[in-house]
Amino acid sequence: MTSVAAKVFCRVERVCRHLPVVLNTFLVFSITAEVSYLVVVEAPLEPDQKKTEWSAWWKLVHLLAQYFMLGNICWNALLFFRTSPSIRGVFLGGEGVGQGWRYCYTCETHTPPRCSHCYDCKVCVLRRDHHCVFFGQCVGFRNYRFFLSCLLFMWSGLLYATMMNAEVFIVILKEGVSLHSILLLLIPWIMLVSGQVSARAFAFAFIADTCVVGFLLVSSFFFFHLFLLFRGQTTREWYSSRRPYNLGVLGNMRSTLGIRWYLCWICPLIPSPLPGDGINFPVTGSLEPSR
Ligand SMILES: [Zn+2]
Ligand SMILES: [Zn+2]
Repeated sequence: MTSVAAKVFCRVERVCRHLPVVLNTFLVFSITAEVSYLVVVEAPLEPDQKKTEWSAWWKLVHLLAQYFMLGNICWNALLFFRTSPSIRGVFLGGEGVGQGWRYCYTCETHTPPRCSHCYDCKVCVLRRDHHCVFFGQCVGFRNYRFFLSCLLFMWSGLLYATMMNAEVFIVILKEGVSLHSILLLLIPWIMLVSGQVSARAFAFAFIADTCVVGFLLVSSFFFFHLFLLFRGQTTREWYSSRRPYNLGVLGNMRSTLGIRWYLCWICPLIPSPLPGDGINFPVTGSLEPSR
């Protein structure tokens, strides 16, 4: 009985671990589909509320921009998953124990500076930044570029979708700020379940809300990671007020995003080899916390 319960628990845990990825994928594709619909059909809620007609080429420009952002989000996410940041298969240099090296009792090996053990991934990760719950994987030395590019295109995509959805808010609030329109924007689920709005109005209000909330959430992550990128810090180092590996803004971008740091964000296929090995880092400041 205990083993059956353990098996069920393991299966539930595995499903829960993939839930954020499934949910994110669903939201990204739903938002893209809704925004494409707004561009092509231009009828947010009612057919008689159409805005000024866009020319065919202008619609095409919008669609190309949307699918460029969607392609970059998916491709970067895929490469993020496929690029393991862990120490598995990495030659750490024999007994190379020096300043900043530690011993991991779980992995039973000496690990280099900036490397730490992740209890979710169950392995030590090189230049570990944090364990991303949305992706269900650690952000580390080898996959940081894909993480940041994915964040960049999610941010720009949500900014675009929020601007496109501004019309949905305008249409909903067109007849004045009534209790009905405010409730539709604040609690669309309850309005749908209680039969106050149509499924169509609910879908538009829900996606418009998701764009605004998602944009605020992704903005905070994106600008925080840009701040860390410029400072040459990981989240863990920022948290413990240490900044010993700062190489200046350009040096930090080069060491984190690779030698083509100025180009690599445009497309994940642009090769940008990392200058370091993820094991040795030039120390330019104190290894002790500054406060
Ligand atoms: Zn470990
Ligand atoms: Zn992890």
